This record gives sequence, structure tokens and C-alpha cells, in this order.
Amino acid sequence: MNGQSTKHNSRLGPKLATLVLLLACVQVQAEWIGDARPLMGTEVSVYLWSDDPDEGQRALDEVFAEAERINRLMSTYIDGSEISEINRLAAKEPVPAGEELFRLIQRSLDISVLTHGAFDITYDSVGQHYVFRDRQRPDTETIEAERENIDYRFVKLDEATGSVSFQKDWVRINLGGIAKGYFVERGVDVLRGRGIQHAIVTAGGDSRLLGDRRGRPWMVGIRDPRKDGQVAISVPLADEAISTSGDYERFFDEEGVRYHHIIQPSTGEPAGGVHSATVFGPDAVITDALSTSVFVMGVDKGLTLIATLPDYESIVIDANGSVFYSDGLQRPAENPQ
Ligand code: ADP
Ligand code: MG
Repeated sequence: MNGQSTKHNSRLGPKLATLVLLLACVQVQAEWIGDARPLMGTEVSVYLWSDDPDEGQRALDEVFAEAERINRLMSTYIDGSEISEINRLAAKEPVPAGEELFRLIQRSLDISVLTHGAFDITYDSVGQHYVFRDRQRPDTETIEAERENIDYRFVKLDEATGSVSFQKDWVRINLGGIAKGYFVERGVDVLRGRGIQHAIVTAGGDSRLLGDRRGRPWMVGIRDPRKDGQVAISVPLADEAISTSGDYERFFDEEGVRYHHIIQPSTGEPAGGVHSATVFGPDAVITDALSTSVFVMGVDKGLTLIATLPDYESIVIDANGSVFYSDGLQRPAENPQ
């Protein structure tokens, strides 16, 4: 290097170095980051594109904290949670509920009306007697007796006082069919508020997508309900929610019968006829509740309901493994094999 160019470089040097450094920062720092943690009785995962790894990590942590907060509010497995207090007292007296829980119960009751009772948060009168990990299930007498306590119309909401009451003893509610959808929707709100534009927030069978996968759609897999770890169908989606309810999530098999966690409110027994029901559309609260509902309603009634909801589509895999698509859906690419 001769002296002249050294002199030349030394003048341009600092600016050039800053520029190179800046470019390097942009290239090195912007990245996909993600994490998965056991929360809400399932696995919660967050995957996002962030320009700044520290900011991205803080965003991840905030979403997981949100899952914990919602769980503390809405889990019937936590003594003293707001919902446990409602279950303990609401048959005796109106119980004031926080705004958030009140609204989610209200939305649950609206979906009960829409689905003619297929979605019913009072299913838990029977549901509480299942302990899947211990292969424990209610006997016929218990089902007969508790079935009488399943009817969403026993749940009364008082707008003026923001309180919940049950019109019958032994009624219980459980938001397991809608709370994860609520969380993934809230999780995406948190990320959006932090300026993140591309992310996926998942809780068990419920995912909410924020934006696309940087120029490509997200490919969301619907599990093969009988082949562990295999994807039956992949759906390309952006900026949408997708929920799958399956009889493989929490279950045990006994003498050829599968006892699982989705209850047919009219019988108090696990719903038959369907292996999995997937619903996608703009709002994860709705897709979560509707995937449970379509599972309970079965292929014909379920897809007839979805046909009345222009923003929502559904894919149902029945008990023979046949796949059914709602009217508005172009057949997505099925995986070979
Ligand atoms: P997951 O993501 O846990 O598989 P789903 O959306 O499939 O959730 O809903 C199943 C959960 O919904 C059950 O674990 C139970 O808590 C609740 N549930 C079961 N049957 C009903 C029903 N008929 N209506 C409303 N909620 C239900
Ligand atoms: Mg659901």
C-alpha cells in the first residue's frame, strides 16, 4: 500500500468502517428466534423474526408471561383461580368476574348458541371425572347424573354487575376448548405491539400467525390423527389462525374404545365419528371453539355450519381416515403417503 492510498483511506476510513459495521449488524442481528415451554397444560411455542435479538428475546418472554397470566386466571386446576372461584360459588350467589374472563365466558355462550350446544363450557360436570394420565373415566351412573348439569343455559351473566351465576347446583365451567385460542390471539397482540411483523404463536393445537414467513406463507401441518409425528395435510396461511381438535391429544384406549377429551354434551360421552377437526380463519378464539364444535357435530353438521361463516374454513378427518373440506376451500396439497 503506498502512502497516498493510506492517507486516502484514513480519511474515508471511519465512515466506511461505520457503514460496514452497520451492514454487518443488520445482517447478523436480524434473525428468526423461538422457544417452546410447557404451559397451559400443553406446549406453548413462539417463533418470530426480530431485527434485534435482545428485543426479540424480551418479546418471547412477554408472550410466555402472558400464557402464565391467562392460565392463572382461567385454569380449573389452580385452586383460587378466578374460574375456580366461580365454580365454587356461582351456584350459590352471583360471583363478580374480571372483565377478561366475563367476556370470554360471554363469547363461549355465544358459540354455544351458534353451534346449538355442541360447544358447551359446562361439559366439565362430566369432564372433571376423566384423568387421562391415570386411565380414569366416569362410570355410567356418574355420567347419567352429571349429564343433567351440562347446559350452557344454566350460566347467567349480569352485564350490570359483571358477575356470573349458575342456575343449578353442581354446574361447572371449563374454558379448555377456547382459552388457548384466546391466548395465541393475545400473544400475537403483544408481539404486534412490539413492532414484530412475522411470527407464529402456538399452544397445543392452536396457532395464530402474524404476517407471513417473510415473503412466503407459513405452512401449517395438520397431524395424521393415527400416525404419530406425521403430517397428513399442509395448509399455506398468512395472518390467520388455525386450530385442530383431535382425539389423540388426551386419551386412553380401553377394549378397543378410545376415551378422549372432547365431550358430546348431549350424551356426556367422548364424541365419536371424527378423528380430527381443523378450522382456520381470522380469529383464534373462534377457530379454537369451532374446531371443538365441528369435532362434536361431525362431518355433515360441522361443515354445514362452517359454510354459513364466510371467513372460516374447515378440514375434517373422519373415523375412517377420509378427509372432508368445507365448501370455500380449494384442496390444499396433500402429503404423499
Ligand atoms: P386441545 O387444543 O386441548 O386439543 P380443543 O380445542 O380440542 O383443545 O378442545 C378440547 C378441550 O375442550 C377439552 O380438553 C376440554 O377442556 C374442552 N371441551 C371438551 N368438550 C367440550 C365441549 N363439548 N364444549 C366445549 N369445550 C369442551
Ligand atoms: Mg378447540
